[in-house]
Amino acid sequence: MLFTSLKLDSQGKQQGFMQIPYSHNLGGWANVMIPMTVIANGDGPTVLVLGGNHGDEYQGQIAAMKLARELTPEMITGRIILIPSLNFPAARSATRLSPLDGMNMNRAFPGQPEGPVTSQIAHYLTTVLFPMSDVIIDIHSGGRSMDFVPCSHMHVVPDKEQRKKMLAAMLAWNTDFSFLYADIAGSGLLPVEAENQGKIVVTTELGGGEGVPASVHRIAQSGLRNVLIHVGLIKGVEHTRESLGKPPAILVQALDRNDYLLAPESGIFEIGVDLGRMVQVGDCVGAIHHLERPDRTPEPIIARSSGYLITARVPCLTQQGDCVAVIARQVGIDEVLSA
Ligand SMILES: [Zn+2]
Repeated sequence: MLFTSLKLDSQGKQQGFMQIPYSHNLGGWANVMIPMTVIANGDGPTVLVLGGNHGDEYQGQIAAMKLARELTPEMITGRIILIPSLNFPAARSATRLSPLDGMNMNRAFPGQPEGPVTSQIAHYLTTVLFPMSDVIIDIHSGGRSMDFVPCSHMHVVPDKEQRKKMLAAMLAWNTDFSFLYADIAGSGLLPVEAENQGKIVVTTELGGGEGVPASVHRIAQSGLRNVLIHVGLIKGVEHTRESLGKPPAILVQALDRNDYLLAPESGIFEIGVDLGRMVQVGDCVGAIHHLERPDRTPEPIIARSSGYLITARVPCLTQQGDCVAVIARQVGIDEVLSA
């Protein structure tokens, strides 16, 4: 069962681990050790910062590591718990899923106290870290499979007061796009468990693919810091897109299954539209080429909705059923708050 030597209720700065007994062939009494930093100073919000929910998404892991090194108790009011690489075994092996149990951390909630390693981590968050937190920040990118327009994102939660706070915190990331998304690929998500506990949940999709441009690292790091100022954890002046001389964020949503385009057959995927560009219903956004029959006409991927191409598949080699593109239509803040 998962344990930690960190004292979550103590003041000051502590560096330690979440530890899970994990026996393997060359380590009979071994533990999986997941780095965790806790910093507390007086009264204020408790914020949980998570990177590496998916192991192959490193921009958030780096942003959380840097913050964990830099922050001192004097710089904050309240408490921050940073876990840069939540699915640590997956981060070490550059995989989305855990190599220890094959589980996707973001489908493992609420988790089990005596389950596989990934499930035990989920259970500890569900029963210990979420209940003590006011704000939960879960930093994602598209990993090796998808590339996103760098964006903060959220679910349209049913509670309107919670939704309003989440929207404001999402916009505080100051990305060019902010994205309202739906769960088309299963249940057991980390943000859903945190939302169900009534928390302010801020998530992102900051680019993707195996490489991370410097500009995306800057968005990850400046956005995280600004959200922490926004929620009253870090002392400082909050930046807005206006104060940075930028136009308002483009708020988009993909809440319909038709917005998520899947490969109808296996082959070599060619994207035909640049990320962040507008497409209309009926536009061809890409094609699946036939590796074994190049003489056959490629299978077109046709947009079933109009909006911005918010994400597209990265690896060309594609299996039937892989998500290859997502189209998100622009919405107004009032429409989101009143929906
Ligand atoms: Zn992810």
